[in-house]
Amino acid sequence: MTCEELLQALNEYVDGTLDLSAAECQQFAQHLAGCNPCQLVVDNIRGTIQLFRAGEPFPLPVEFQQRLQLNLQQRWAEKFGVGESAEVR
Ligand SMILES: [Zn+2]
Repeated sequence: MTCEELLQALNEYVDGTLDLSAAECQQFAQHLAGCNPCQLVVDNIRGTIQLFRAGEPFPLPVEFQQRLQLNLQQRWAEKFGVGESAEVR
């Protein structure tokens, strides 16, 4: 799994459109174990997911999702110098 694939999966997971299988969880965990920037991002998102699941009755606002994606892309750009995959929904 590449960082990009992980980022994509995370986005879908946060969207609620992705259910991780056991195998995918393992790939996830394997990548994370060796990738510090991804660990940071996941830590960040984990807080979001917990908030989201803590009984908030409304879906994530679009603005928030866009901020989250921008945030992720910025981190990636800082770490890997990839800034041009700006396919923000
Ligand atoms: Zn990574």
